[in-house]
Amino acid sequence: MDIAQVVLDVALDKLFDYRIPPELVPAIRTGVRVTVPFGRTVREGYVLALADHSDYPEVRPLLGVADGAAHLPEKLVELGNWMADYYCCSREQAIRTLLPAPVRQGKIREKFRLYAALPDRDAAAAFVAAHAGKKNAAARSALLETLLADADGTLPLDELLESCTASRASVRTLEKNGLIRLEKHSVRRDPFAGREVIPAQPLRPSPEQAAALDRINRMLLGEDRRHVLLLHGVTNSGKTEVYLQAIARTLELGRSAIVLVPEISLTPQTVRRFRARFGDRLSILHSRLSDGERFDEWHRISRHETAIAVGARSALFAPFRNLGLIVVDEEHESSYKQSEAPRYSARDVAVMRGRLENAVVILGSATPSAESRRNAETGKYALATLSRQVSEQLAPHVRIIDLRLGGPPEKGKSNFFSPLLIEAVRERLERGEQSILFLNRRGYARMLLCEQCGYEATCPNCSVGFTYSRQRRTLSCHLCGLVVPAPENCPDCGSPEIRYSGVGTEKIEAAAAAVFQHARIARMDSDSMRGADDYETVLEKFRRAEIDILIGTQMIAKGLHFPNVTLVGIINADSGLMLPDFRAPERTFQLITQVAGRAGRGDVRGEVIIQSYNPDNETIRFAAEQDFEGFSRYDLEAREMLAYPPFTHLIALHFRGEDESRVANFAAEFTEALRPYCGDAVKISGPLPAPIERIKGKFRYMTLLRGAALGRVRPQLRHMVLHGKTPPGVEVYADVDAQSLL
Ligand code: ADP
Ligand code: ZN
Ligand code: ZN
Repeated sequence: MDIAQVVLDVALDKLFDYRIPPELVPAIRTGVRVTVPFGRTVREGYVLALADHSDYPEVRPLLGVADGAAHLPEKLVELGNWMADYYCCSREQAIRTLLPAPVRQGKIREKFRLYAALPDRDAAAAFVAAHAGKKNAAARSALLETLLADADGTLPLDELLESCTASRASVRTLEKNGLIRLEKHSVRRDPFAGREVIPAQPLRPSPEQAAALDRINRMLLGEDRRHVLLLHGVTNSGKTEVYLQAIARTLELGRSAIVLVPEISLTPQTVRRFRARFGDRLSILHSRLSDGERFDEWHRISRHETAIAVGARSALFAPFRNLGLIVVDEEHESSYKQSEAPRYSARDVAVMRGRLENAVVILGSATPSAESRRNAETGKYALATLSRQVSEQLAPHVRIIDLRLGGPPEKGKSNFFSPLLIEAVRERLERGEQSILFLNRRGYARMLLCEQCGYEATCPNCSVGFTYSRQRRTLSCHLCGLVVPAPENCPDCGSPEIRYSGVGTEKIEAAAAAVFQHARIARMDSDSMRGADDYETVLEKFRRAEIDILIGTQMIAKGLHFPNVTLVGIINADSGLMLPDFRAPERTFQLITQVAGRAGRGDVRGEVIIQSYNPDNETIRFAAEQDFEGFSRYDLEAREMLAYPPFTHLIALHFRGEDESRVANFAAEFTEALRPYCGDAVKISGPLPAPIERIKGKFRYMTLLRGAALGRVRPQLRHMVLHGKTPPGVEVYADVDAQSLL
């Protein structure tokens, strides 16, 4: 093995061969960061593989191992290679994902601070005694006296100079005389600097928690052939406590742990809870770290100075070499799927990393995804259930309001709030309690809806909403390709009030201000929240009850605890249901569950009002009854019948470009070229215009591949996507296990 195959941040999906000089052979293995000649320059790259020989006639020797020790564990390189193959992305993209930018780019270095130390305490004391009262040595005496007063005789130079109002010149003189020594100490840029937490002890597990922990323990010891556990438990059932104790067990076994949470859940409360249990053995990785802090945390993990990494998606690639446990909290969250290349799912990559490293993976959720539900059902994953809340709470009182009964709104009046919802909010205002009004923002997509009777145009073959094109006046289904002319009048009630719709939180806020005139109202969505601070500020005001009504989107659905909130109004439960996406019911159920969970966390029973045009819709009914089992059965049956995931695998091929006919032609050509590799086992739908036909001036076309196994077409697909010829101005990419079909 004297050839190293190196990935450089240059060409697309290409490895470069370099000969390993004999003296470097012991140091070179996969994951090592090396310096290599490239053209007339010198570059740094990662060794991805070793080989016996090269196909290239002339192979140059590599120059050496890069300093700074930003090497990757071998198992992570293996994971990166798997990601490149599975997600059809280039090698360098996959490797880039494994490394935080400040580590990869090599611009940031370790930080040092200059210290002054006393090499000889007696000599220093003698100097001070000899120069007592001498004005010309006052500064030097002060410096030495201050150092003598310190137990270690070592102080940061800048602090020393300031406290003695001395100059660098005095220090230089002392240094020359051998009375002071200057030392460089490495300093950690500590995101927690100066913030203390009170240590906390593990809680005594409930019987269900104990059973889950027992299971995890056996998996950690390798006594279960499975390595993934689905932890299904409602909010407040003690999942986090299970994570904490499972982590503690992992550390006892001398191994390390990774905890993934959705970025939005990485709140100060969560961080405090983990720190209280594990103190300094913890690294927190979130988007607000400075480059220096990120650099230092990565190296601390790499040197195993910490044993736990908590963070959003990217924490999955923490460079531990003895990983024992990965926790994926809220595993159903769609934010675990990255929307840019490489379009990986952190949950699925976590399962793969666990497999490669023999680590246990816990997937936790109150509303597990269909994929995980199915894997637990077939026994591929172990299952543990926490069925009860830790502190038994009164379940909220849930009502569905049929929006069709309201009739057309009076002129100038808002039709967002039913009279019942208005009255419920007013009651809260009078009692000094708080309300949350929730809007499912995904309702922005274009769908055809009758204002009179709630009729919604859906595809007869696919049971998903049609996509309405105003320009063409057509309805189309991008799953099966059916296109029909859009009706002029509602096919159900004949009303001409049929149109595509979409409502935003801004409109709702204005309407609420008009209806509840003296209420203090705030809005929270990704438009009104510029930064993390805005988010914290609004939440803090809401917590202090300085806001009566909080209006928002998904952002407010997450596990926030507000005991004074006794009412949750869901403005239009249908808006997400009608999207042309087979995951629409699942998302709607998850959202309603999450939002409803915000009501009545104190000792007062909460109320949830669900407004809907489809009060008989199964998803809405299951959600109102909080019947997860019922919903799950219904959802899985529908998906099985229609051959959607988790009963098949799905790859969405995207084509985009400014010239529509060029995009359409290329999409058709590409799909045809792929067809022979698909065989009978893979079903091809499309190409068709994507439901959102144009984004940023680019037309979008999509082809869907579905099959029980897509392993056979994947290599060809990957090759065509990365190395095939595309016409100028047209791009193609594969979205493997696509979460959104819009
Ligand atoms: P989840 O993660 O499912 O929402 P948590 O682990 O956060 O649930 O637990 C909810 C609350 O119950 C927390 O305040 C937690 O401290 C408390 N709790 C959890 N497990 C126990 C236990 N075994 N005994 C007492 N309190 C517990
Ligand atoms: Zn269809
Ligand atoms: Zn109608």
